[in-house]
Amino acid sequence: MQYDYLIVGSGLMGATFAYLAHHAGKRCLVVERRAHTGGNVHCQEVAGIQVHQYGAHILHTNNREVWQFVNGIAECNRYTNSPVANYQGKLYNLPFNMNTFYQMWGVTTPLQARRKIEEQRSEAIRKLDGREPANLEEQALALVGKDIFERLIKGYTEKQWGRSCNELPAFIIRRLPLRFVFDNNYFNDSYQGIPIGGYNRLIDRLLQDIEVRLKTDFLEHKQELDTLADKVLYTGPLDAYFDYRLGHLQYRTVRFETEVLETPNYQGNAVVNYTDRDVPYTRIIEHKHFEQFGPAVYDNPQTVISKEYSMEWMPGMEPYYPVNDEKNSALLREYQTLAAKEENVIFAGRLAEYKYYDMAPTIERAMQLWSKEEA
Ligand code: FAD
Ligand code: UDP
Repeated sequence: MQYDYLIVGSGLMGATFAYLAHHAGKRCLVVERRAHTGGNVHCQEVAGIQVHQYGAHILHTNNREVWQFVNGIAECNRYTNSPVANYQGKLYNLPFNMNTFYQMWGVTTPLQARRKIEEQRSEAIRKLDGREPANLEEQALALVGKDIFERLIKGYTEKQWGRSCNELPAFIIRRLPLRFVFDNNYFNDSYQGIPIGGYNRLIDRLLQDIEVRLKTDFLEHKQELDTLADKVLYTGPLDAYFDYRLGHLQYRTVRFETEVLETPNYQGNAVVNYTDRDVPYTRIIEHKHFEQFGPAVYDNPQTVISKEYSMEWMPGMEPYYPVNDEKNSALLREYQTLAAKEENVIFAGRLAEYKYYDMAPTIERAMQLWSKEEA
C-alpha cells in the first residue's frame, strides 16, 4: 500500500489526526471534498479581516494538553466571548449574570437578584406540582422564570430550532447557568482564544508536508482510494458513507448573509444575539472583534458582519447541528451497527459520529484515537 492512512476530510479531526500520524512517521493522504482545507473552521480574508465562513468559532477548553497543543502550533489571542442580547432594542449581557439582572429588574446585589428569580420561578414550580418538566418551556420557566425566558430564551430558541419551546425536549437546556457575579465571560473554561491570524494558520501548519487532495469526494472515488491505504479515518457524514440506505440523519443548518460595511465599528462586539422572534436572524457576528481589541478596532475603516439564519437542513446544504432527538438517535444506532462491521475504517468527528463536538473535544478525540492506533 502507498499510504498507512487515508484521511477523509480536512477539518480539525482529520487535520489533527493527520498531524499526529505524520509526525509518528506514518504516510498519510488527506482527501477533501471542498476546495479548501479546515472544514467548518475555515476562514476567508475579507477587507483585511478573518471571516469565519461557516459560523463564529471560539476555542475554549479546560484541557491544558489541548490548549498547549494548539498554541504550540498557532498561538491564540486573548479573545473572551461576552455576547450581548438585543431584545426589542434593549441590550442585556450574557450569560445570565448580575449585569443581566440589573438590566432586567434594576437589582444591584446578589441577594436581591436571587429573591427576584425565586419570585419569577415560583409560578412554574407550582404548576409542575412535583412532576418533571415535559418540555423546554416548562424547564426554562422552572429554572429562570418568566422575564428571562420571554425576553432572552423563547424567541432565540424557537428561531434556532424552528419549533415552539413547548414542543422542544427539556434536555436541550437542562442547565441554564445563573451567575450571581458581574462576569460577562460566556465560558467557564480556563483557556479561551482564537488563533492569531485565523484558523487557516492552524490548519495549514497541522497539514504542512502532508499530501492533500482538494475537491476530491471520497465516496465518489471510494473503490480507487480504498486501494491506496491500509486504514481509513472517515470524518464525513455517517449516513452518506452507507449511501443513506437506512434514511437521512437530520441536521439544523445556518444560512449566513455576510456584508462589508464602510464603518470601522458596527456593533461594538463580536456577537449580538437577537432574542426577539420577530427579527428573522438569530445573531449578528462582527468578525473584526475576534482579532482586534481596543483602539485597534479603528485601524481598519471597514468592517464585516454576518447575519445568521437558522434553518432545517436539506440535502445539498451544509449539515451543522445534529438533531439528537429519539428518532435520529435510533437511526444513528442502526448506522453505528453497520459502521462497526467496516474493517479498517475509523469513523470520527462531528459528522461521522453525528455528535455535536466543539473544537477542543474534537482535538482531544483525535489525540485519543491516535494513541489507540499507536498502542
Ligand atoms: P468538519 O469541520 O465538518 O470537517 C469535516 C470535513 O470532511 C469537511 O471539510 C468536509 O468537507 C469533509 N468531507 C465530508 N465528506 C467528505 C467526503 N465524502 N469526501 C471528502 N471530504 C469530505 N466549536 C467550538 O469549539 N467553538 C465554537 O464557537 C464553535 N462554533 C461553531 C459554529 C457552527 C455554526 C458550527 C457548525 C460548529 C461550531 N463549532 C464550534 C464546532 C466545530 O465546528 C467542530 O468541533 C469542528 O469543526 C469539528 O471538526 P470535524 O473535523 O469533525 O468536522
Ligand atoms: N440560548 C438562548 N438565548 C441566547 C443564547 C442561547 O435561549 O441568547 C439557548 C438556546 O436554547 C440555545 C442554547 O441556549 O439553543 C445554546 O446556545 P449557545 O449559543 O450557547 O450554543 P450554540 O448554539 O453555539 O451551540
